[in-house]
Amino acid sequence: MEDVIIIGGGPAGLTAAIYVERAGKHALVFEGNVCGGQIVNAAKVENYPSIKEISGADFAMNLYEQAKNLGAEIKFEKVVGIVDNKNYKTVKTTTGEVQAKAVILATGASNRKLGIDKEKEFIGRGVSYCATCDGAFFRNKSVAVVGGGNTAIEDAMFLSNYCSKVYIIHRRAELRGEEKIIKELKEKSNVEFILEANVTKLIGDGKLEQIEITKNNSVTQKIDVSGLFVAIGQVPGNGAFENIIKLDSYGYVDATEDCKTNVDGIFVAGDARVKTVRQLTTACSDGTVAALAAINYLRNK
Ligand SMILES: Cc1cc2nc3c(=O)[nH]c(=O)nc-3n(C[C@H](O)[C@H](O)[C@H](O)COP(=O)(O)OP(=O)(O)OC[C@H]3O[C@@H](n4cnc5c(N)ncnc54)[C@H](O)[C@@H]3O)c2cc1C
Repeated sequence: MEDVIIIGGGPAGLTAAIYVERAGKHALVFEGNVCGGQIVNAAKVENYPSIKEISGADFAMNLYEQAKNLGAEIKFEKVVGIVDNKNYKTVKTTTGEVQAKAVILATGASNRKLGIDKEKEFIGRGVSYCATCDGAFFRNKSVAVVGGGNTAIEDAMFLSNYCSKVYIIHRRAELRGEEKIIKELKEKSNVEFILEANVTKLIGDGKLEQIEITKNNSVTQKIDVSGLFVAIGQVPGNGAFENIIKLDSYGYVDATEDCKTNVDGIFVAGDARVKTVRQLTTACSDGTVAALAAINYLRNK
């Protein structure tokens, strides 16, 4: 039986693994995709204390190596469910099941989809959710970014260095991202803002060629673009656990700063839980709190 199973190998999960190992217990981390979580997609991180500047990929790799070097075991398998057997938990993955005395959910969040026709068909054929990952494929081409928050404006800034033209399309009259970056974007000659507008159609034969823009319920223009970067927020991926874990109406785990869920012995850390600030610092902070709460739970069992 494992001491602590951590579901998710992002900043929260890997920080939890570090603390579990340093407390003399064993951490088994299940990661369904790539270690590092969302930060892998960040070109540059400048707001993590004591690290002046680092790429998201390097941040993720350092964290992965740190957790592994301290003894954490990382398995690349998606977790599909948890069974609460009171004294221990059964964690079900795509290939089997493992028992653990305690579980930490660190499943983070993923990108929200536009929900329009052909979106799925054009993923990898013009539609992307990660400018850092895919931006270079659109060098000297015309692209659009949908969204108005920090991710959208950072994506637009990044793409404006590669692409001939970048349209920023947002449903509101004003963007909500960091003022400094918005100001810089406004000064760029290859960036154009289309506000109070929605992307309502994706047009192309086998790949994206045009997008249709709608304002006030009427189509106003069709724009030639090779790429559409969707940056309209995130959704948590806790659906597999909703039978035992209390979630809020958006699907985030209903837990506060103590990182304890409604189930004794199951903890939560990072973007997966209800919180107002979702950042690296807060994810790592949660990883610490959840790990120490899990260790305390093991001691008192
Ligand atoms: C483009 C971008 C740029 C960003 N830039 C910054 C920045 O500069 N500074 C900053 O502080 N924050 C930044 N953030 C936010 C930061 O990345 C997140 O707040 C942080 O990664 C949250 O960490 P987490 O571990 O809670 O979740 P995540 O990073 O989402 O990690 C969760 C992990 O769990 C895995 N997982 C999910 N479900 C399962 C399952 N069922 N089984 C197994 N594994 C599962 C996922 O694959 C993922 O790897 C950025 C985010 C993005 C998208």
